[in-house]
Amino acid sequence: MEFLYLYLYLILLFTIPSSIQSSSEEAISRFQQYLQINTAQPTPRYQESTNFLISQANSLSLDSQTFEFVTAKPLVLIKWPGTKPDLPSILLYSHTDVVPAEFEKWAHHPFSAHVDDGGRIYARGSQDMKCVGMQYLEALRRLKAEGFQPLRSVYLAFAPDEEIGGHDGAEKFAESQVFEKLNVGIVLDEGLASPDGHYRPFYAERSPWWLVIKATGAPGHGAKLYHNSAMENLLKSIESIRRFRASQFDLIKAGLREEGDVVSVNMVFLKAGTPSPTGFVMNLQPSEAEAGFDVRVPPTTDPESLERRIAEEWAPISRNMSFSFKQKVPVHDNSGKPIITKADSSNPWWTLLQNAVQKAGGKLGKPEVFPASTDARYFRRRGLPAIGFSPMANTPILLHDHNEFLHKDEYLKGIEIYESIIKAYASFDDHGKHGGSRDEL
Ligand SMILES: [Zn+2]
Repeated sequence: MEFLYLYLYLILLFTIPSSIQSSSEEAISRFQQYLQINTAQPTPRYQESTNFLISQANSLSLDSQTFEFVTAKPLVLIKWPGTKPDLPSILLYSHTDVVPAEFEKWAHHPFSAHVDDGGRIYARGSQDMKCVGMQYLEALRRLKAEGFQPLRSVYLAFAPDEEIGGHDGAEKFAESQVFEKLNVGIVLDEGLASPDGHYRPFYAERSPWWLVIKATGAPGHGAKLYHNSAMENLLKSIESIRRFRASQFDLIKAGLREEGDVVSVNMVFLKAGTPSPTGFVMNLQPSEAEAGFDVRVPPTTDPESLERRIAEEWAPISRNMSFSFKQKVPVHDNSGKPIITKADSSNPWWTLLQNAVQKAGGKLGKPEVFPASTDARYFRRRGLPAIGFSPMANTPILLHDHNEFLHKDEYLKGIEIYESIIKAYASFDDHGKHGGSRDEL
């Protein structure tokens, strides 16, 4: 019997076309090359990543352009022209920068792109999000090799600074004449890995509100009990905020809400006390005390009622308190509507994505609100549909963590998924419903 298995195995081994084996190896090798370029903030090697991306475009016979909306912060744009260039185009978006890594805490150097015996590719950016940028390119490589012709133009954008807010890259790009001329109809951006067998699509994201509350009060002797000291007033607020935080966390723990659907509040600093040469003055109650919170607000939250809660419960004037925002990204667009991309049958791009993933043998989870921020917000707030999607199933979420990795089989599977999506998107002809061509009516 064992001989039979061995025999079958050998037959199988030699019937896998060597071209597929070698093309997979080459795809992994190109992914490694991109990962090996150290594009960690705050000093990404943009020149190297730009050269690499341009060489990829050249190898695919695609035109590329580099834009610097801010000097030395390059955004690389690659174009695959459609046969019906009047139809709104597809934008496949990714960022080239990555967060820093503490080298000594990694099992393998974070910019070596080491593949271990189990097939895991270790590198900063292997999940966030050089994988996606390269998968787009690999999918295009395969579609071109098959002789596929897109109806709609397909653009790939590689932006420089998502990890520090995207203000010099995606934000300026989305507001530019260059972008306007692309006539983009749909944007794909990053999602998150999924520990189970489903891919996670994201249709919106929470808005960061970086809140600082401040209490003031009469200073006093450390031994005296009196009303309205700054510290006491700040602590009352912190207690109230903690109760709110617990109520939101309970919804997640009870399985009633996903992480992206609740308002998260986390205290990030406390600032109070009167410094002395040896630490703090211990017999003086200070006249000012401050605390900072990272608040994340889902698009489904009523921003006015949250702000009222802040003004009335978290920083009430009646307790000599005030508040301000270090950052407050709007939850609603200019017309007062939540900034979301429809994830149902009313949005053809959503249906196309669902079908394309299924066709390629992938399983799509239910649409979610991204718990943090991505560059997709700059496109959504223009009213464009944008879906966050990184095809990484059966993968622990390791973005920004030590030992970030992606298994090579998941990476290769992701290329097939994008092949299917890009084919569906670029072939989609809505018969002029969105200002496109009417040739086929
Ligand atoms: Zn990212």
